[in-house]
Amino acid sequence: MERKEKLYEGKAKIIYATDDPDKNILYFKDDATAFNGAKKGSIVDKGIINNKVSAKLFQMLAENGVESHFIEQLSDREMLAYKVDIMLVEVVARNYIAGSLAKRMGKDEGGKLEWPIVEYYYKDDDLNDPMINRDHVLVFGIASAEQIDSAHKTALKVNQILSEYLFARDILLVDFKLEFGNYKGKMLLADEICPDTCRLWDRHTLEKLDKDRFRRELGNVEDAYQEICRRVCGEL
Ligand code: UDP
Repeated sequence: MERKEKLYEGKAKIIYATDDPDKNILYFKDDATAFNGAKKGSIVDKGIINNKVSAKLFQMLAENGVESHFIEQLSDREMLAYKVDIMLVEVVARNYIAGSLAKRMGKDEGGKLEWPIVEYYYKDDDLNDPMINRDHVLVFGIASAEQIDSAHKTALKVNQILSEYLFARDILLVDFKLEFGNYKGKMLLADEICPDTCRLWDRHTLEKLDKDRFRRELGNVEDAYQEICRRVCGEL
């Protein structure tokens, strides 16, 4: 499958059309941004790692009954995926206190939540992706009840499966963001699942092995991404 015209260029990926109107090629870049684009940089080989890690995790989720846009990995930086209509709600699931939750609730990072918290954010760069609830989604017509409820349920299922998979590889799944898209009437998991979109801490040392190393200038960013790739994609 070959790349045709460029359809969209985002912060971390470029989307290309293919000969098949139902399928796109996602090209993973090394560009890194944080704080809604206010901080810009690049992480060497990030695109290769995020493509590989996402492919592995989408495959693993498919084996566990979670459907996604993923079809196959085409090359180091290219993934073939179903062309979906992205829902303008980002779904975040959390297991430990970190990031914006720590800030909002005035708590230290690291506490384990009694049960997972699921949050919705309205995908709108101009508004800085504000947190919204189910009523906002429905009243403002951002998605239908079926769509948001299906995404919510899938996020909890992904959280369960992914937490177990990563824990077996000495990684704590602290929190993560999912995107969903409509494909022929079905809500499919979309986008990517990688150290850009998840908080991943070493199970024993609690060392951060994710994009927080870039966001917070903690150093050894590339090493952390490589380490996650090794643990996620390597044999147990
Ligand atoms: N996240 C993401 N994209 C975003 C915002 C958040 O992938 O635009 C991920 C982030 O990596 C973390 C989780 O969602 O794993 C929760 O992020 P949080 O709300 O704590 O925001 P942050 O502190 O990253 O601004």
